[in-house]
Amino acid sequence: MEEVIIIGAGPSGVSAAVNLYRNNINPLVIYKDASNLDIASSIENYYGFKSISGIDLFNQGISQLDFHKIKHLEEILFEIKEIKDGFQVITNKNTYETRSIILANGIKRNKSDIKNLNLYEGRGISFCVRCDGFFYKNSKVSIIGNNSYLLHELSILREYTSDITVFTDGVDIDLNIPEKVIKDKIISFEGHTYFETIKTNSGVYDFDGCFIALGFPSNTTLNKTLGIELDNNFIKVNEKYETNMKGLFAVGDAIGGLLQVQKASYDGYRVVEYVKSYLKELKNITNG
Ligand SMILES: Cc1cc2nc3c(=O)[nH]c(=O)nc-3n(C[C@H](O)[C@H](O)[C@H](O)COP(=O)(O)OP(=O)(O)OC[C@H]3O[C@@H](n4cnc5c(N)ncnc54)[C@H](O)[C@@H]3O)c2cc1C
Repeated sequence: MEEVIIIGAGPSGVSAAVNLYRNNINPLVIYKDASNLDIASSIENYYGFKSISGIDLFNQGISQLDFHKIKHLEEILFEIKEIKDGFQVITNKNTYETRSIILANGIKRNKSDIKNLNLYEGRGISFCVRCDGFFYKNSKVSIIGNNSYLLHELSILREYTSDITVFTDGVDIDLNIPEKVIKDKIISFEGHTYFETIKTNSGVYDFDGCFIALGFPSNTTLNKTLGIELDNNFIKVNEKYETNMKGLFAVGDAIGGLLQVQKASYDGYRVVEYVKSYLKELKNITNG
């Protein structure tokens, strides 16, 4: 039986793994891909890097695991089951048993098939308000979304500008917000080198920038099926990163807050102390 299985090899998962290792606990890391880092074209606000692409940062993380000889497997988590004194972790390839789990599985930023999105992503269209909101200080911006994830991103966007228009992309919902809300179906993004205009089924609107907050953060479905309590679609944890399931911890983007590399790394570092205490407590109970 493993002591700790970490799901995810982004900043929070790798940071947790390395710090567990430094505390003489050798975890098993299971991850499916580079997730959000794969689409982060340039990270310029992380310590020590003037600019680094998300995928390069992710690969640095994997080589850090290799450097410390921390076991890591490229598999997809399908299910977690509670067993006596631990969990069964079921992936697409295998079943593992572990005393504790750290979910560092991030969030899923849903893409959209609106025409020309690919053309302007990183050129006036962004998927991350916390990352790019700064560039639109006091600008005229739009944000597209239609659920609680939209409200989360909107609350951050308001820190940068008050000139915000919300597009629900054809979804007829009542959003109790002060911003102008346009419920038209979006046809396309238009512009020259950079994004300039949103074209809908009944109008044309000009903006300096646009944020996409469609879909839901996280591996919500998976988390829900596991019986993990969520808060606004993020995993709910206490100050010790404990979920409602004993022995199951969560960190990084998956638990919400600042969706940033440094915060995810901090969570991964911090959770180790609590996982250690939990394992110690478990051993005392078993031995006693
Ligand atoms: C376009 C974009 C630009 C960004 N720019 C910046 C920036 O400039 N600065 C900054 O600080 N942050 C930026 N971010 C945010 C940053 O990428 C995240 O905050 C950070 O990656 C979160 O780390 P994490 O470890 O919590 O999750 P992630 O990095 O998302 O890692 C999640 C891990 O979980 C794994 N996983 C998920 N589900 C499963 C499963 N079922 N089975 C197995 N493994 C699974 C994934 O494969 C992945 O390894 C950006 C994000 C995006 C999308």
